[in-house]
Amino acid sequence: AAAIRNTLKIGMIPADGIGREVLPAAQRTLEALGSSIPKPEFIPLLAGWDLFQKTGTALPEETIRTLKEECDGAMFGAVSSPSHKVAGYSSPIVALRKHMDLYANIRPVASVPGQDGKQINMVIVRENTECLYVKQEEVTTLPDGTKKAIAIRQITERASSRIGRMAFELALKRGQEREINPSASFWKGPPKVTIIHKSNVLSATDGLFRETVRSVKESDEARYSSILLEEQIVDSMVYRLFREPEIFDVTVAPNLYGDIISDGAAALVGSLGLVPSLNAGDSFAMGEPVHGSAPDIEGQGIANPIATIRSTALLLSHLGHTEQAARINQAVNSVLLEGRFLTPDLGGKSKTDEVIDAILKKL
Ligand code: ATP
Ligand code: MG
Repeated sequence: AAAIRNTLKIGMIPADGIGREVLPAAQRTLEALGSSIPKPEFIPLLAGWDLFQKTGTALPEETIRTLKEECDGAMFGAVSSPSHKVAGYSSPIVALRKHMDLYANIRPVASVPGQDGKQINMVIVRENTECLYVKQEEVTTLPDGTKKAIAIRQITERASSRIGRMAFELALKRGQEREINPSASFWKGPPKVTIIHKSNVLSATDGLFRETVRSVKESDEARYSSILLEEQIVDSMVYRLFREPEIFDVTVAPNLYGDIISDGAAALVGSLGLVPSLNAGDSFAMGEPVHGSAPDIEGQGIANPIATIRSTALLLSHLGHTEQAARINQAVNSVLLEGRFLTPDLGGKSKTDEVIDAILKKL
């Protein structure tokens, strides 16, 4: 729908910490594309831990309403979460994903041109709505006076099957891209999907995830016959990822494994500040850098804006503007290749704004 309109309404949710420092990169990038996309209109929206501390609400109704009724898409910065339980607080990003039914978190991880290191070009498709993130935890005191804590881990056929379909569709899309540009990824074989699980131990939950994703392919062989379906037990996945990341194409994982694997994959490409994501559902999408609010570097103006700029490209591509998304990624890659304007996480001395300036100049 967005493609035929003449404006693009984007909800902007900076939230906390460096989220506020990197989100302007999204706005500046979209503005720099000029008339090649519908005129972007930015609607600032509130959410976050800081907001909770000021107002007692982490995610105002108004933010959800505006996203649902007025926006074509959204960009999210980052949220801080306290490490201990705070009465009345729950993470607004987790809630947003649920309210907007953004059931997939798509995280492309690619090694940096010009920097040595591992050869990696894969997509992690992380289930976004359930697993341990249903956050049903309980602490009880045992008769001997010691405590016991339990957490519920929910896996449903519905959520597993739609995330499976998302992974297969992405694999087909990447396969087509590889035919046009074989150097686009390190994996050279047919489209491949790797299911990450631990069903040898958790046969009910991970067993259901694994079987459901498998059955998505089996029930639509006409469409998915070209896809190679593999699996990795999550611990072995970590080992393979660190030893030979080039063998992966698309991986699909329940929520928590997807979260952990993503940070590991980010380390392989040099910085969390490079890795973008898209929270996607059937009718809405929201770009979000994979990193958190990074309190250790907050307020210094040195946060890497590239994860946010790449997330903007993911959102644009999802809205049908694939060519403009590709232009953004080329501009990012060329700045990385030159290596003149890099933030400290990549060994440089540049400020956030200088990196944005360099990228927009290429655009
Ligand atoms: P949170 O609880 O919000 O996730 P965190 O302490 O886990 O906070 P992260 O944001 O996850 O912090 O970051 C982990 C590490 O990566 C930190 O050392 C942080 O400085 C670094 N980092 C994360 N994002 C960026 C970025 N955009 N640019 C530079 N460094 C980053
Ligand atoms: Mg973190």
